[in-house]
Amino acid sequence: MSTTENAIASAEAHSAHNYHPLPVVVATADGAWMTDVEGRRYLDMLAGYSALNFGHGNRRLIDAARAQLERVTLTSRAFHHDRFADFCTRLAELCGMEMVLPMNTGVEAVETAVKTARKWGYRVKGVPDGMAKIIVAADNFHGRTTTVISFSTDPEARADFGPYTPGFEIVPYGDLTAMREAMTENTVAVLIEPIQGEAGVLVPPPGYLAGVRELTRERDVLFIADEIQSGLGRTGKTFACEHEGVVPDMYLLGKALGGGVVPVSAVVSSAAVLGVYRPGEHGSTFGGNPLACAVALEVIAMLNTGEYQQRAAELGDHLHRELGLLAGGGAVRAVRGRGLWAGVDIEPELGTGREISEKLMERRVLVKDTHGSTIRIAPPLVIGKEDLDWGLEQLREVLRG
Ligand SMILES: *Cc1c(COP(=O)(O)O)cnc(C)c1O
Repeated sequence: MSTTENAIASAEAHSAHNYHPLPVVVATADGAWMTDVEGRRYLDMLAGYSALNFGHGNRRLIDAARAQLERVTLTSRAFHHDRFADFCTRLAELCGMEMVLPMNTGVEAVETAVKTARKWGYRVKGVPDGMAKIIVAADNFHGRTTTVISFSTDPEARADFGPYTPGFEIVPYGDLTAMREAMTENTVAVLIEPIQGEAGVLVPPPGYLAGVRELTRERDVLFIADEIQSGLGRTGKTFACEHEGVVPDMYLLGKALGGGVVPVSAVVSSAAVLGVYRPGEHGSTFGGNPLACAVALEVIAMLNTGEYQQRAAELGDHLHRELGLLAGGGAVRAVRGRGLWAGVDIEPELGTGREISEKLMERRVLVKDTHGSTIRIAPPLVIGKEDLDWGLEQLREVLRG
């Protein structure tokens, strides 16, 4: 057996099969490229679902992490540490908000948002105890905990994991009328992705986010934007909500906030909303730890230059122009997305998304399929234009058959 086959066989024997990875075993990575255990190089067109917006082994991020590793890595929130205030201040500033509640993984930010919205509903809005409702969209992806899969519409994510947490109303994504009709006095929040990533990079109809903003404001309901995948540069702006000039009440951030180095997530909101907490009511041992803060501070500084957003916008225009040409050729049914982020629906007779991904892997390009015959393209924002073109050329070759 090859080194690759050995590694895969051991992984399959000793890890739960909750993923179905492509048969590549990565050993090292740099920028937009990964090298496997047998020395083959691959172009990373997934970027850890946007956790790697700044690329693998980003110098600034690695240096920031290394420097912090030598100082202090964890204090718990039982004590203050000297990176915490800066992290919260700068992140709030980046978001145009006032307060930050740091967690680790994306789904913890979502859980925190659910708890915050409910508490805000009872303490501020005056909803009767136990009655709070949160409106979510069909085909959402917000993570994997029992509460969050309770409002998933994906049978794979839900089946066999009940009983489910109540308190959620599901409405079709992009449908403002349905959202308006689902709203009652007990609605405390609307939780949506400004672009649905896992659903296939679905961009809502123009005016939808602005409409949600207007409706939630009118009805005294919190607008929670899950920007865990769409945020921090991916779409050509710091936040995907900006494309419609919308500012939600709460941003949920994760993935790229940790620079692909450490898990860092956060809820960012106003003092009126996050001010509902008192000591002991919520927390996390690792949330807001010094290493996480040091890396995230560097991420924020990089975003403050605007370079990454601009790069995503320019390369994104190029990507969508090229994919648009492919869409005219009969092999591609539809292309969606914004910035350096695209969902490509392949004609089903050419193969499943998985089969296309495997063929691309043979040509040294790594992407991930989603839902049947869709592949998603989201390279690190630092990818070179020539590399992006080379990756697209491999896609054209695969679709040519
Ligand atoms: C990835 C993702 C999450 C969950 O993040 P984890 O770090 O995997 O828990 C939540 N919401 C969106 C939109 C995501 O893309």
